[in-house]
Amino acid sequence: MGIETYISILTLLGGYYVLIKKLLDSPSNSGLKSAINQLLLGLSNKLELAHAYGQPTSVQIESTTYCNAKCSMCGRTMVYTGKNPKKPKHMSFQKFKKIMLKLPYCKYIDLQGLGEPLLNPDLISIIKFCKERKS
Ligand code: SF4
Repeated sequence: MGIETYISILTLLGGYYVLIKKLLDSPSNSGLKSAINQLLLGLSNKLELAHAYGQPTSVQIESTTYCNAKCSMCGRTMVYTGKNPKKPKHMSFQKFKKIMLKLPYCKYIDLQGLGEPLLNPDLISIIKFCKERKS
């Protein structure tokens, strides 16, 4: 398909934006809503739009910035040790849940960042929430 085809499709979708938005916000038709979301993301990607029409399907969330190691090659070691170190933090389960409830189409969640996720005391609750959400 050429760029004109994508623009035509996007224009068509733009014309039905209110309807699509209502469908995406409604509690039913989850399979159809997910397919429409994928279509919007695919078109946004193909057209290299600055703003994606569609919601994220994968996220990386840094569940903690604590770590019990100080690996010399790690960016965390530079930021959280040495001169003027930042204070590490854990992400609470409540905050994680609040974020995830805003991402209804997210299917892949990476809980790794600059830290050791197993040190987060809320990690079990976070994983249970992810598991329940998947089923
Ligand atoms: S986050 Fe990973 S790489 Fe960085 S200091 Fe901790 S264990 Fe090492």
